Amino acid sequence: MALKGLDIFKLSPKKNCKECGSPTCMAFCMKVAQGAADISACPYFSEDAKAQLSEATAPPMKSIKIGTGAEEMVLGGETVMERHEKTFVNKTRYADSLCNCMDEATIEAKLAEVPKVDYDRIGERMYAELIYVNYSAEGSYDYVELVKKAAALGRTLVLGCTDVEVAKAALAVCKDSKPVLNGATPANYAEMNAVATEAGVVLGVSGADMNEIYDTVKALEGLGNKNLVIDTTGATVKETFANTVQLRKAAIKDGDRTCGYPSIVNLVKVAKDDLHLQAALAAIFTIKYGSIVVMQEITYAEALPLYGLRQNIFTDPQKPMRVEPGIYALNGADENSICLTTVDFALTYFLVSGELERSGVPVNLIISDAGGLSVLTAWAAGKLSSSSIEKFWKEADIEGKIKNRKLIIPGKVAVLKGEIEAKLPGWEVIIAPREAVELVKFLKDMQAN
Ligand code: SF4
Repeated sequence: MALKGLDIFKLSPKKNCKECGSPTCMAFCMKVAQGAADISACPYFSEDAKAQLSEATAPPMKSIKIGTGAEEMVLGGETVMERHEKTFVNKTRYADSLCNCMDEATIEAKLAEVPKVDYDRIGERMYAELIYVNYSAEGSYDYVELVKKAAALGRTLVLGCTDVEVAKAALAVCKDSKPVLNGATPANYAEMNAVATEAGVVLGVSGADMNEIYDTVKALEGLGNKNLVIDTTGATVKETFANTVQLRKAAIKDGDRTCGYPSIVNLVKVAKDDLHLQAALAAIFTIKYGSIVVMQEITYAEALPLYGLRQNIFTDPQKPMRVEPGIYALNGADENSICLTTVDFALTYFLVSGELERSGVPVNLIISDAGGLSVLTAWAAGKLSSSSIEKFWKEADIEGKIKNRKLIIPGKVAVLKGEIEAKLPGWEVIIAPREAVELVKFLKDMQAN
């Protein structure tokens, strides 16, 4: 059971020195109990106290690292059932899939397709971070060769292989990139544990039902392996959904640490060849607790809605997504280039800057502090006004840095034109179109005239 703040306080140093960032030891202990602070932030807890507390204050679901370098990612580590309670911390990762049961032409075509989906949305790279490489005993394509080819794409692999010897051979060619070996079952878990431990990779556990999976996880923990993920894929969509929800509930609500591992949901098994259903299910399992969601293919048709959804789900609802206020010189803009101002809401920034870049016209994009709100919300809340712009102009020394005196303002706050011109003497204020998509033509027309 999770400890209460008072239990932690009893073991605290009681110095009230504030070094942890909290005003008192009691306040710090309350934060630790809520999961909002880590015990390591206080340098004075005794080793004995830390040992007593570490297990009890650890998050109910383990954070599991896979991949290396730029492809390193964390799965799990979640502390709540619903996003509105706190926040989801480690986003769902989508895996495109390959199988040695595919013919060579299909494999080559898939390998060529995977890198095609790769784009930025609001500062985040969107692409298939994982490749699930399934092993079928009936498959005619050499599995190790397939793993080598998949690894060459530079993505983290999930090896879906329950054959111990084949898994060992596959890991020999890819273990350095820290893949997941999704291969432990009630029948082979001891041997698979030895293979995964030797290679230093995360082990995936599956079984006929959750009882079997639970017993296998318990047995693996008994062997000292807590570097696990749980494959919750059942025989049907309904069973898969029930397993995945049950796992999260047992970990978070019941505090059962044996269930406190990230999940793998394999949609290729439960909705084979139905790409529309897989896309819909991937959206459901993004919201409902899939840590890795395996799909038959990820084209732009699947990626655009899915990654957008994921980005919305895995942001802190209490913190607006915002960019740093400042001057962003686009398309080689200098002090003589025209200025355009908007708010610091990340979506607005990336939409507007994307259109400005597309125009090719040198522009100084000036982002003022508007509390991370969109244009109209910031205006309604008084965070985007002639006064806020005047204040930012002074703080950022805009007039000292830029000689051009033309300023484009968002079309939705055209009403501010007169006030801004009164507060910033010498500036000509120009009204932009209402929609960012119209900026390219607008700027090109301005440049031509
Ligand atoms: Fe107390 Fe430790 Fe925080 Fe100091 S750093 S106030 S001793 S909890």
